[in-house]
Amino acid sequence: MATRTPLIAGNWKMYKTGPEAVQAAHALNALTAGVANVDIMIAPPFTALAAVSAALQGSPIAVGAQNLHWESEGAFTGEIAPGMLRAAGCRYVIIGHSERRQLFGETDQAVNRKVQAALAAGLIPVLCIGETEAEREAEQTFSVLDKQVRFGLENVSLQTLGDLVVAYEPVWAIGTGKTATREQAQEAHAFIRERLGKLYGEDMAEATGILYGGSVKPNNIAELIGMDDIDGALVGGASLEPETFARIIKLGD
Ligand code: PEP
Repeated sequence: MATRTPLIAGNWKMYKTGPEAVQAAHALNALTAGVANVDIMIAPPFTALAAVSAALQGSPIAVGAQNLHWESEGAFTGEIAPGMLRAAGCRYVIIGHSERRQLFGETDQAVNRKVQAALAAGLIPVLCIGETEAEREAEQTFSVLDKQVRFGLENVSLQTLGDLVVAYEPVWAIGTGKTATREQAQEAHAFIRERLGKLYGEDMAEATGILYGGSVKPNNIAELIGMDDIDGALVGGASLEPETFARIIKLGD
């Protein structure tokens, strides 16, 4: 049975201006005051990170970014370096989200460079992996997850690893209203943990939080998080509205 502290993370994607994000962060902070035994993270757009971090000073809610570049600085127009995220108050960074892989051509190699850069900068990577509907139908789910874990963590030793969060997000469940059944999710999470154990040993695998993502809502969080290897959730759409997200953080209705 897992003893890991659950993490409920909100991916705000390309929603909310700076002032809107600050307002939502304040509201979420008030709505979740006193919630214990759950770690909370929100990932606003880049333009809101510093203001949201400042607004959450002294709050247990951590701030994450949705992406980063692997170089520490340079002529990379439009990109954001790991140290800039740290300076803006980020603790986490989401890496390899399926929207980045599918819409922006992010490869496993790029994901790997980002994971390494995040770790080197002291950020906690939230490494997103997951199969498409076609891959699931072709019974390739486990080979896809295996490849994404291995390539995503290539050349990352146990010594450099530090904290890591993995998010299992079946692509067919993101923003579609379709959720993996708790059995499908548990099966994938157990597989990912077993793979991490092969790479880094059982202690690391047992200590690593594996989040489920894909149409998580207040009415399905409890059954998902009740499964042994599901350690929390990465929530997109339902994290945008503070009342709804707070209900998920409180693990249901
Ligand atoms: C996500 O963007 O990571 C996600 C899981 O989105 P949604 O909750 O909207 O499916």
